[in-house]
Amino acid sequence: CIPDTGNLCSNNSFSIPIVQSHEGSSKNIPSSLRKLNLDGYFSFDNNDHAARDFGNLYHFLPVAVLHPKTVYDISSTIKHIFQMGSDSELTVTARGHGHSLQGQAQSHQGLVINMESLEEIGIQVHNEEPPYVDVSGGELWINILHETLKHGLAPKSWTDYLHLTVGGTLSNAGISGQAFKHGPQINNIHQLEVITGKGEVLTCSEKQNAELYYSVLGGLGQFGIITRARISLEPAPKKVKWIRVLYSEFSIFSRDQEYLISLENSFNYIEGFVMINRTGILEKWRSSFNPKDPLEASQFNSDGRTLYCLEIAKYFNPDHETTIMINQTIENLLSALSYITSTLFQSEVSYVEFLDRVHESEMKLRAKSLWEVPHPWLNFLIPKSSIHDFAEQVFGNILTDTNNGPVIIYPVNQSKWNSRTSFITPDEDVFYQVAFLPSAMPSSKGKDGLEHILIQNRRILDFCTTPRLGIKQYLPHYSSQKEWQTHFGSRWEEIVHRKLAYDPLAILSPGQRIFQKVM
Ligand code: FAD
Repeated sequence: CIPDTGNLCSNNSFSIPIVQSHEGSSKNIPSSLRKLNLDGYFSFDNNDHAARDFGNLYHFLPVAVLHPKTVYDISSTIKHIFQMGSDSELTVTARGHGHSLQGQAQSHQGLVINMESLEEIGIQVHNEEPPYVDVSGGELWINILHETLKHGLAPKSWTDYLHLTVGGTLSNAGISGQAFKHGPQINNIHQLEVITGKGEVLTCSEKQNAELYYSVLGGLGQFGIITRARISLEPAPKKVKWIRVLYSEFSIFSRDQEYLISLENSFNYIEGFVMINRTGILEKWRSSFNPKDPLEASQFNSDGRTLYCLEIAKYFNPDHETTIMINQTIENLLSALSYITSTLFQSEVSYVEFLDRVHESEMKLRAKSLWEVPHPWLNFLIPKSSIHDFAEQVFGNILTDTNNGPVIIYPVNQSKWNSRTSFITPDEDVFYQVAFLPSAMPSSKGKDGLEHILIQNRRILDFCTTPRLGIKQYLPHYSSQKEWQTHFGSRWEEIVHRKLAYDPLAILSPGQRIFQKVM
């Protein structure tokens, strides 16, 4: 803790059981807040949805939810709470689509702001050079895709799943298979409108209020609420060649991934995943992909082996490129790789189908009531120099199968990340994003049960905290401020200064458990 941080810093350990549920009490809502003259409204009852998230492990009931219509609704509410100072215990959390994993968008006995109800800004596409779109902080990326495509344009950097809000992903980073080339979503933002923890409404960019701009990007909701974002666009492709190939050796798989992200003219999307003890992998692919060589593919036996799938995509526009041209480009790129040749599978889909691919799985899981189960996910950023140790220990020892959900792994280039944002990356030119995405069956005591997965997660986390490995959590979750200090490392003091400058009473986003409200 640096000396002048007052009550913001504490050595308190927040000890949280896995599932907590608290009664909200509307007594905690000051009557003066109820009297604010707003375009939107507060709801004081039936707010259970605000105590849930995608993780489905933490449930903290707020005392009220604000459904703002205008930016003014949010700023006047926060200003009011700020002016009450330590007389009020209220904290404020912007809630996007609530797809956090451990209560990060919840506010125990506080106020939750439902950002999706903010109607004022809409989606305004500016088809000029360079093109951009202005959107509300509560807008879903899927809506932005559909609207920008009407102008032949689209954002450059995505997440794998698009039913998330702009404010939610920009508070983290927004990483997907385009990040090796364009950086994460936080690197593709020209300007923001932000409401600070004092209730001020400020426009910020690299040139205007730059410190606020960099603080908020990757800032875990700690420094302000994003009400508007100006997102960089590019001409949108119409079609995507989507390709999967398998490897049995991690070292060859990762070498090929690293080679592909180092090229100037590579694929447009590069990801990968790990499969341990899965059966009939290629048969399952056949519903959406075609084998290049059907006979050879039918003879490949995946059963019981640990396999690594390279997933790549090449975008194209049939109006400008012939199929022969695009196939030749792909063949040239593939010819330098050392995958198992019989496992080359391809598919051709529209750009929207490709980007919205996880939504299709969501619909299938929802139909089987398997979407709203607990999701004890883990995400890491792992330096290239540690990835082999990590793979050996975790894929070769701790994880005995990947039947509970996908394990995604792909490298990105540090040079595409801006080091002034609040986001913390490992300290190497290339690092890997690794995501363990299991679903837990609530009543199961077996390998797909929550208890089993949490024990396995603990082993992975314990390994990843070995200091020499230099691993950082993505979508981080810690239960003490000491762990947050370790996470931010040498940037901890800067983070505390940013907090003091923009949210000095620590009103915002208490669900991240970094700072406590000053009382
Ligand atoms: P919420 O959960 O509502 O909020 C997250 C945090 O941001 C909270 O602290 C909240 O207070 C804060 N916040 C929300 N809105 C604002 C705002 N307007 N201003 C300031 N702070 C705000 N992430 C990736 O990077 N890549 C992926 O490929 C990816 N895939 C995913 C797939 C699925 C199925 C799911 C469930 C999540 C995935 N994520 C991925 C993680 C996702 O990006 C984060 O969980 C993100 O926070 C979710 O957005 P949300 O709108 O639901 O945010």
